Amino acid sequence: MHSAIAKSQRSRGVIDRYREFLPVSASTPIVSLGEGNTPLIYCQRLSKRVGRDCRVFVKNEGVNPTGSFKDRGMTVAVSKSLERGANAIICASTGNTSASASAYAARAGILCIVILPAGKIATGKLLQAFVYGAKIVAIDGNFDAALRIVRDLGESGDFAIVNSINPDRIAGQKTAAFEIVDEMDEAPDFHLLPVGNAGNITAYWAGYREYQVYERSTKSPVMIGFQAARAAPIFYNRIIEKPETIASAIRIGNPASWKQARAAIAESRGAIDVVSDEEVVAAQNWLAQQEGIFVEPASAASIAGLFKCCESHEAAYSFQKIPEASRIVCTVTGHGLKDPDAIIERMEELKPLAATTNDVRRAIG
Ligand SMILES: *Cc1c(COP(=O)(O)O)cnc(C)c1O
Repeated sequence: MHSAIAKSQRSRGVIDRYREFLPVSASTPIVSLGEGNTPLIYCQRLSKRVGRDCRVFVKNEGVNPTGSFKDRGMTVAVSKSLERGANAIICASTGNTSASASAYAARAGILCIVILPAGKIATGKLLQAFVYGAKIVAIDGNFDAALRIVRDLGESGDFAIVNSINPDRIAGQKTAAFEIVDEMDEAPDFHLLPVGNAGNITAYWAGYREYQVYERSTKSPVMIGFQAARAAPIFYNRIIEKPETIASAIRIGNPASWKQARAAIAESRGAIDVVSDEEVVAAQNWLAQQEGIFVEPASAASIAGLFKCCESHEAAYSFQKIPEASRIVCTVTGHGLKDPDAIIERMEELKPLAATTNDVRRAIG
């Protein structure tokens, strides 16, 4: 390749960088938007909250092309769908899957159909599906009902399903674990993340295990997943008929990868826990104001969860006696700008002042 047009690391997608670990061949048409290669940010103030010389890193998946980790799986799922001759893909979504699917479908030149729970999608995510040109169908039901319909329609063979029940999605999402190990030269000791449909915890665990088998690391982390308190089927071990939470990306009552999530938690000697909406909002604010990282509410569940592990006697996993100098990674899954409504509600109204330096100086205080 001519050096002037050689791809920078930044613009190479996950298939390009991890091809040997993914279900693609030389004849797979690659549909990529330069996903992955996201920052793993050392967070000093978060580390201090944990103490014991531990180091906390935030894997910021909000900087993917459509603003969430879903792009890692979507590049693989859409490429494979295209290889199999699909001319339409379909998904149910709490928002980010539809945003990602519509972008990759546009890139591939195929139709994208998204089935959404009416009135339950964050504004930014709905806007994305619309602007990328998806066919949007809103239903009077929740995500779990939307996924049931998608499964039915997918069985007809007219549409390729790109929800995380598609194993190509999970394969693509494994690459986040690869990146973390590549960057740290070893797996972390603990990995914390939000859990909704449970595809991501399944994918991270698969990625860590695979890298250990290939001797890229000598261990795999303890996996700790966090659900929203009123949408916590895995934690309570029962289907939640009407899941509720401000963290709309994890508002799921019957996760598709329930068993796999349980296996990841058991095999890693980890835990599943819950965080309240109040804890999520507090963690979202804290991370923005103390570390400069603005994430959507669901993503803040991993930070709220870290605080709980450090400070609560009720935590499913306590960090009070973890080994000194442990390395902890928290995945933040999606960008804060996707869900402005959650923030606007708590903003104070801005009353304009007279346009004089003195008035402004007085207001600053
Ligand atoms: C999809 C999503 C989740 C949940 O991931 P699962 O794989 O469904 O467990 C969490 N946060 C954000 C921002 C998401 O888009």
